[in-house]
Amino acid sequence: MAGDAEVIDNYAVLGNPVSHSLSPRIHRIFAEQTGESLSYRAIELPEDGFRDGLLALKREGLRGANVTVPFKRQAWESCDHLSDRASAAGAVNTLSFDEDGAISGDNTDGVGLVRDLTGNLDLSLHKQKILILGAGGAVRGVLGPLLDLQPEEITIANRSLDKAHQLALDFSARGDIRVQAYADLGDEKFDLIINATAAGLQKKLPPIDAQILCQTTVCYDMLYSTDESTTFVDWAQGLGVRAHDGLGMLVEQAAESFYIWRKARP
Ligand code: NDP
Repeated sequence: MAGDAEVIDNYAVLGNPVSHSLSPRIHRIFAEQTGESLSYRAIELPEDGFRDGLLALKREGLRGANVTVPFKRQAWESCDHLSDRASAAGAVNTLSFDEDGAISGDNTDGVGLVRDLTGNLDLSLHKQKILILGAGGAVRGVLGPLLDLQPEEITIANRSLDKAHQLALDFSARGDIRVQAYADLGDEKFDLIINATAAGLQKKLPPIDAQILCQTTVCYDMLYSTDESTTFVDWAQGLGVRAHDGLGMLVEQAAESFYIWRKARP
């Protein structure tokens, strides 16, 4: 019958810049896999206009959104309801616009990382020594889920030590976190080293030394690249160490967002 057009729910990833984002491709594949009818696009919002942009998109009928750099904190501030993991993370990467007009926020970065490490890469983190490089928003999102796996210890190294100390304090109820300056890492060895710095975006390495690696160390770069390996993965593999980039984390965090919105698991 004329006029019976199929209703498609609209979703988006909001960021600045965002044109490089793989999320539209990933969610399109998820929609095909699950038979869900939806559209998903990348929307760049002005750096000083996140909240206004978000409310305008909500009025236009957007059902939900992923949020990427630099808006995860502002997304958290814009929510009427927060999941436990978003509250703990202090950052939101998944927004849902509820029927009653409320905005709900969740953070799927941590579950995305843990599923990639333990599911796709088959690593056990129980009783393992983990070194995290960086103390930004992404680390805040993944610390809770990592601590839940009861590693032997988590050490954070960051240029600005105050940020690392603040994280250790904020998560102290969930587990002990050691803070170390890069220069003091010495030759201590770790089972897993997660690069959560933004250094790779400029094709740089954080200030680390090969001494922190041993043959059994696994290196994981949260940054991902679709064409060539990331600088950190290159560095580790060049030293003969197993290393992976963050594409699996990206796909897994997207799958969790998709589940929150559609109650269907890709
Ligand atoms: P933030 O901007 O919040 O934090 C950046 C961190 O990188 C800070 O700890 C900063 O240190 C450090 N840093 C920046 N440049 C350098 C450098 N040249 N040398 C050493 N440290 C540096 O970013 P996010 O936490 O949001 O993101 C971090 C990384 O994780 C990014 O590469 C991002 O793409 C990736 N990511 C990947 C995801 C995925 O799904 N795969 C999801 C989320 C993030 P300081 O505090 O001293 O300035």
